[in-house]
Amino acid sequence: MKSLWGRPFSTVVLIALASLLSWPILGGRGALMLLAALLLALLFHHLDNLTTLYRWLQNPRLDTVPIGSGSWEYVFSPLRRMLKRQKQSEAVLTAALDRFQMAGAALPDAVVILDEGDRIEWCNPRAADYFGLHLERDRGQQITYLLRQPQFVDHLESGNTSEPLVLRMSRDDGEMMLAIQQVPYGDHQKLILGRDITRWERLETTRRDFVANVSHELRTPLTVVGGFLETLEDMTTPDPEMTRRSLQLMMQQTSRMTRLVEDLLTLSRLESTQNPLREEDVSIPELVRVLHQDAQILSAGRHRLLLKPESGDWLRGNTDELRSAFGNLVSNAVRYTPENGEIEIRWELLAGNHPAFSVRDSGIGIEPQHIDRLTERFYRVDRSRSRETGGTGLGLAIVKHVLVRHQARLEIQSTPGKGSTFSVIFPETRRLPAKGQAVAAKEHA
Ligand code: ADP
Repeated sequence: MKSLWGRPFSTVVLIALASLLSWPILGGRGALMLLAALLLALLFHHLDNLTTLYRWLQNPRLDTVPIGSGSWEYVFSPLRRMLKRQKQSEAVLTAALDRFQMAGAALPDAVVILDEGDRIEWCNPRAADYFGLHLERDRGQQITYLLRQPQFVDHLESGNTSEPLVLRMSRDDGEMMLAIQQVPYGDHQKLILGRDITRWERLETTRRDFVANVSHELRTPLTVVGGFLETLEDMTTPDPEMTRRSLQLMMQQTSRMTRLVEDLLTLSRLESTQNPLREEDVSIPELVRVLHQDAQILSAGRHRLLLKPESGDWLRGNTDELRSAFGNLVSNAVRYTPENGEIEIRWELLAGNHPAFSVRDSGIGIEPQHIDRLTERFYRVDRSRSRETGGTGLGLAIVKHVLVRHQARLEIQSTPGKGSTFSVIFPETRRLPAKGQAVAAKEHA
């Protein structure tokens, strides 16, 4: 206060002193007139500064704070300092808000903040994706006006914070499954969190289907074996012919279950992340010869079997896995080609130095709508035909997994009633030059 009043006070004292000192020179009247003139000048000075302050207050900005003269400096300088401090804390707050918004935008889940009346206070960009909300447009709106699904409204009203609500939402690019969780916080406010669980749900459905399929596949042979055993047990006088036939059929069913379990184990080994591909140099020319012999045994003279090892190249990969994949393709060709049909096994080098293994048959062929689904587990075009020929429905799923592990791709060309060609095309990087006498492929058990 002292400094604020110091300068005006000394100005008034100075004016009074000047008037007194001028008294002997100007006389009483002149000194009084001087006093009045000086006081008028002082008043004008203050009015001028007051007007400047008033004008500045119409649009107060830090860079336009007036430079005060005289005692007005005591007003303008602290004002400037105060505005500077305010600007600095504003910058700190803006930076913190920016960081918060950036973190909100980077969140993989949708976040919506609701006030005590369930009105939207804030939401992140993911909420726009998942719920179709837009912060600018929807701020202050009741969320249930915008998300009207009855399950969501009920869930919000129930105040259930322990169980997330699973909601199916339709979007431009298809359907999505959302897990929505409400979390109370602050003063009756709520956080609504939305997580995309579409992939997880799909995996869960696949897992459920898989378990159901395996159970179904095992139940049929088990029922057959169980039935025969009951009949044999009930027979008071054993009929040797009947017993022999029953045992034969039971053995057939048991080997069907064994094949299924073996294929399941193979699939699970191939899918396991703990089982990286053990690579070696594989002589494919030798492998295709072994497969050709296997096909002859399986065909038992019912088909014309051709072997075309056009290339002598070897391959960098895993012998057992490649034998299993190629073997499945060859056995499918035999199983799905009627008697007197033709089957050709080929190993060649395609354009771009891509090694390729293919099996062409003149069998029953496949309708185009099935082709994309053939590598799904247990997918069969004709279930009973697959079973009759000893199929497990897992052969092409095994092929697919082996190929993925070798960065190879499967191409299927087929004409119903005319036949099919299954080709496995490897990347050039897996190709190895022929190594003289082929010795690597292990003898097939
Ligand atoms: P499966 O044990 O039933 O043969 P796969 O996975 O090996 O199982 O094959 C899936 C389905 O693809 C088969 O059930 C069959 O319908 C079809 N398929 C596979 N190979 C051929 C082929 N060479 N000719 C006709 N259909 C085939």
